[in-house]
Amino acid sequence: MPIEIKTGDITKERVCAIVNAANSSCMGGGGVDGAIHRAGGPTILKACKEVRRTKYPDGLPTGEAVATTAGDLPAKYVIHTVGPVWGRCGDRCDELLANAYRNSLKEAVKLGCESVAFPAISTGIYGFPAERAAKIAYRTVREFLREHSGLTVVFVFHSESSRRIFESSIAPISNP
Ligand code: ADP
Repeated sequence: MPIEIKTGDITKERVCAIVNAANSSCMGGGGVDGAIHRAGGPTILKACKEVRRTKYPDGLPTGEAVATTAGDLPAKYVIHTVGPVWGRCGDRCDELLANAYRNSLKEAVKLGCESVAFPAISTGIYGFPAERAAKIAYRTVREFLREHSGLTVVFVFHSESSRRIFESSIAPISNP
């Protein structure tokens, strides 16, 4: 399975698209979102404003994804998606997180990308339990890749400890 797991800064990934764990305003924020806008420069925000003006005047709904330029980043595109806020997603938390991954993957395919890198969506400020998020992320990506050969997915963790949590959480489900 073309899945890579690594520790690092997603803004440095030389892939076709990196995914941003954005908020519905799409106007930047903290965490990985802030890092992407800082490293990518103002053209990303400009493109996000255009997305808000044209496609999503009320903001990007949770679980949806939209692509913009990656500005000065080594990637070509940033795919902005909004994960669920733990504690505010009722009984739809798992489904909404899976949607965020799946819709981002669909955007990557639409863009003709062969590689896409994900941060651990919703597990920072949005408070989604990391172990649970890991299983959902892995299952959703694996299922998508079964029908889209030629796409490589990189999971990028900001710390060794979050990478280890991911790996141990998916261990029981990663063997065929
Ligand atoms: P959310 O609001 O969806 O929870 P956050 O940005 O707060 O998003 O966190 C998502 C994950 O991204 C967290 O695990 C956080 O440690 C991680 N993260 C933060 N900065 C970076 C970065 N530069 N590269 C990769 N991952 C990052």
